[in-house]
Amino acid sequence: MATKTTTAKSAATRTPKEENALKELFIDELKDIYWAEQHLVKVLPKMAKGATSDELKQAINDHLEQTKNHVSRLESAFESIGEKAKAVKCEAMAGLLKEADELLEETDKGTEVRDVAIISASQKVEHYEIASYGTLKTLAGVLGFTEAQKLLDETLQEEKAADSLLTQVAENYVNEAAAAE
Ligand code: FE
Ligand code: ZN
Ligand code: FE
Repeated sequence: MATKTTTAKSAATRTPKEENALKELFIDELKDIYWAEQHLVKVLPKMAKGATSDELKQAINDHLEQTKNHVSRLESAFESIGEKAKAVKCEAMAGLLKEADELLEETDKGTEVRDVAIISASQKVEHYEIASYGTLKTLAGVLGFTEAQKLLDETLQEEKAADSLLTQVAENYVNEAAAAE
């Protein structure tokens, strides 16, 4: 086996056991992101409320609506592969949101630095989601879960757009600050 590479195999060469292991990983990751999205629905209103600028408040509130949709898309993805939707605590998202909470505590309401902190925390969340959905989408393709793959890709594109919008909001801050000088 020493000469064999560890790159992904095609379905034809995968044993049923290997196929099953990949499917299990896929379902575990679905449960993880399902928890993460549900948790975000609870936490995003607090982040929007804590934001200073209307632009950032709006961006977070818009993404909150999308996030609710991410939850239901995941439910559809579970359904499409005949699995019951189940959430398993995502320690990574829990940690990211704990840090976001700390940033809110450490910065004063109504300040620019508060918004920069919120943007930073939000982008870390988006990047985690982008990584998760990217992998999930690929795995769905490998496993032949076409419907799930389509749903996961839709959410992936929205996470990417949300991340770009946050970058835009951050850049607007920098430009405003420069213009005020
Ligand atoms: Fe999401
Ligand atoms: Zn996780
Ligand atoms: Fe998101």
